[in-house]
Amino acid sequence: MTSQTDIINQTDRRSTHNYNPLPLVLERGEGVWVWDTDGNKYLDCLSAYSAVNQGHCHPKIIAAMGEQAQKITLTSRAFHNDRMGPFLEKLCQMAKMDKALPMNTGAEAVETAIKAVRKWGYEVKGVENNKAEIIVVRDNFHGRTITAVSMSSEAEYRKNFGPFTPGFKLIDYDDLPALEQAITPNTVALIMEPIQGEAGIIIPSDGFLTKARKICKENNMLFVLDEIQTGLGRTGKTFCFQHEENAAPDILIVGKALSGGVYPVSAILASDEVMGVFTPGIHGSTFGGNPLGAAIGLAALKVIEEENLAERSQILGDYLMSKLQNIKTNKISEIRGKGLFIGIELDPSLGGARSYCEALMKRGILCKETHEHVIRLAPPLIIENEQIDWMVDQIAAVLKD
Ligand SMILES: *Cc1c(COP(=O)(O)O)cnc(C)c1O
Repeated sequence: MTSQTDIINQTDRRSTHNYNPLPLVLERGEGVWVWDTDGNKYLDCLSAYSAVNQGHCHPKIIAAMGEQAQKITLTSRAFHNDRMGPFLEKLCQMAKMDKALPMNTGAEAVETAIKAVRKWGYEVKGVENNKAEIIVVRDNFHGRTITAVSMSSEAEYRKNFGPFTPGFKLIDYDDLPALEQAITPNTVALIMEPIQGEAGIIIPSDGFLTKARKICKENNMLFVLDEIQTGLGRTGKTFCFQHEENAAPDILIVGKALSGGVYPVSAILASDEVMGVFTPGIHGSTFGGNPLGAAIGLAALKVIEEENLAERSQILGDYLMSKLQNIKTNKISEIRGKGLFIGIELDPSLGGARSYCEALMKRGILCKETHEHVIRLAPPLIIENEQIDWMVDQIAAVLKD
């Protein structure tokens, strides 16, 4: 049998080092559990950055994939397929939106949203050609394409990747006066996450989304929410914007859990009016809307509904939060979260969260530091109380003074 060290050495030799993974090799997953190649079992508290909200290898999603794979996998959009319609119908119903446009990865969906708001700006709002401005917020994460890093304020994501896509204006998150000041007659949209995930689970003040949306309406610009990480049950609602009244976006961007972690499936959703800017030939993707991805996506959405994953996330998130708050330690400076989307911010004097994630790994808990000092807890939403109890015991042991 090949040891984990051998596999890691081979991987290190032959793969580009654009990640710094924890030193373990996974080969199997089921529900909230994953196993390494030596048969050790771990509780997954990252869920592939919330792509696996439904749990690993959910039997209904895997069955849908198997069935569809026997029939047809890819038609291209040159022809209709019989799976895309039912998938988009379900997605639109769940988001209460008119239309959806399917893509593959999250970053592609973000790019699609940018194309939509710019085109809307020129063709509906009447902005002069090539003058469109989009407002984005500091510490955002929208993916890794050149345009997505052009929106970013993070030096690490941008260094030596320039020149960048122009047309973005950065403001602070949760800063309404800055939003109002940044708007010009050429502003076509505000794009942001309703909770900033990669930034370390940063939650804006209550009512921020509603107010930001109102400012967008008053200034005839589109309010765009990137819910690739926060969407599909993660924060205790089907979509995070539903925590506030009247906060529905003009464009909603989804990905990750849209396939339950089985296949790359993403989409943007919008009104008939906004989607009307897309006409034949102006945007597309070979794999976007393919029948295999659509069958998987439909099954993944049904699991979220049938298993009440949003409600579970709310109830179990509250349970996890209250247990974490009872941990007696000086090492934690703040715990924040919504639903099963929780960040434990460690005291900066500890030198980062990485070594604590490694210690948790040795105790059978997998999580990953985000923004150096934060341990992100985002287990599959099918987790149960006893598993949370065990998780908190391990966290408490690692963080004890
Ligand atoms: C993960 C993520 C993306 C990028 O998705 P990819 O599938 O990795 O391209 C964009 N926005 C947010 C908020 C994300 O969490």
